[in-house]
Amino acid sequence: MSDIETLKKELPPFEIFDLIPEYAAAGRIDPEKIDLLKWAGVYPQRPQEDGFLMMRVKVPTAELHAGALRVVAGIAEDFGRGLLDVTDRQAFQFHWLRIQDIPEILDRLETVGLHTRGACGDTVRAVIASPLAGLDAREVIDVRPIARAMEGTLSGNKDFEDLPRKFKISLTATPELEGIHLINDIGFLAHEVEGEVGFDVWVGGGLGAVAHLARRLGVFIRPDEVVEVGRAITAAYRDHGYRVNRKKSRLKYLIKDLGPEKFRELVETEYLGRPMRSGPPAPVARFGGSDVLGVNPQKDGLNYVVLTTTVGRIDPQKARRLADLAERYGQGVLRTTAFQNMMIPHVRTEDVAALVEELRTLDLEPRATLRGTTIACTGTQFCRLAQTETKARVAGMIDELEPRHTGLDVPFVINLTGCSNACTRYQVADLGFMGALRANKETGAEEEVYNVHLAGSIGQAQRTGTKLRGIVPATRLTEYTDRVLSDFGAHKAPGESFVE
Ligand code: SF4
Repeated sequence: MSDIETLKKELPPFEIFDLIPEYAAAGRIDPEKIDLLKWAGVYPQRPQEDGFLMMRVKVPTAELHAGALRVVAGIAEDFGRGLLDVTDRQAFQFHWLRIQDIPEILDRLETVGLHTRGACGDTVRAVIASPLAGLDAREVIDVRPIARAMEGTLSGNKDFEDLPRKFKISLTATPELEGIHLINDIGFLAHEVEGEVGFDVWVGGGLGAVAHLARRLGVFIRPDEVVEVGRAITAAYRDHGYRVNRKKSRLKYLIKDLGPEKFRELVETEYLGRPMRSGPPAPVARFGGSDVLGVNPQKDGLNYVVLTTTVGRIDPQKARRLADLAERYGQGVLRTTAFQNMMIPHVRTEDVAALVEELRTLDLEPRATLRGTTIACTGTQFCRLAQTETKARVAGMIDELEPRHTGLDVPFVINLTGCSNACTRYQVADLGFMGALRANKETGAEEEVYNVHLAGSIGQAQRTGTKLRGIVPATRLTEYTDRVLSDFGAHKAPGESFVE
């Protein structure tokens, strides 16, 4: 049994919240319990000896009101040296925190309905709802109420505080656009069959060092069954998932061994106590979620405006301005997206130009360009597992390449990570870079390099990228990307995607 499995048996993980005030008062964390802080969304940041922490904050259904964003910005300013990141799982992340500050930070978050319970650790992570929920005319159902019920039932629940590994759930309802169900442990994808709206259920998606795309259970369940089915699948994973080797503990390994049919049978007989209705697959998205950028019409005649960050980093002062703009031009709410961007919905058509102009002064205007579809993980700046730099390097690359590649008529997704863990899903990008270290052949000195994965897609192609044999030294990352983009632009047919 791994150390963390032993630790979870010694102290039920969510009880770490009871110990945080004690650690804060002493200014010291019990080193034997430090890994359990993940269940409170808190990790040591790199270098661990310095004692600083990072924290992930869940954004339920990816939607928050302007006041909550001001609180988030205030925490980044007061405790986090002005650093605020939007993650690709639609959460916020702070850095440079001290254990002494954690109780006040948790209190401040609670005042605006935000929390960190289960943001990390071997439990149900934030339940992801589409950022388009309730807005886009192409959706077949607004998944937010179901996502809220799922989050309330499963996430932070003591019944599921000790899963074999992390567990991710998504709900989406615009099959034409979104493919995120393919990379979640459970992906609920709504679609319509003969006038009835139901959910296609996918299981066992997960990236990490070995990527698995989710498999269909072959069911078509009613919206009012989704939470019950989610609970049953999670319980099946808790009881039957593998716990010996943490590298092979995600649900994807159980699904690989059992197959979706047997796993479905297990869920139906042992957990639901009834069969689920079988049904046809939902239609498949062409690009898999990357084409929702810019300004878009809502079904009610208003508009949602996706503001483009650079690799998810937002200055807290700008975040405060965004809160003001959401109140002035929208209805005082904002959303976070899976491409580390944010969105202001409910904007009247006559106000769009003024809002876009305001966003331009913040360098956050909507851009259907590389900047909007390029994401990078935390990397060596703060992550203890990282092998390479990520955000600063990619930000520099985008600044250089964006003006040169404005003519592409399809989205082009670049995802870069600082190690094989795939926090920013390099296996399902047009161009995926996975950071590593290697000895330089001539000098013998250790250098940062990137493995290249080409043409992965959670859209129609449903494939993980092809790993090239060669590697790209960090010093040539921009040059390499430039050449790929130039070749693609020169040889593609109109409307043809990179995967095609
Ligand atoms: Fe850290 Fe690796 Fe995850 Fe990046 S992919 S945040 S380097 S663990």
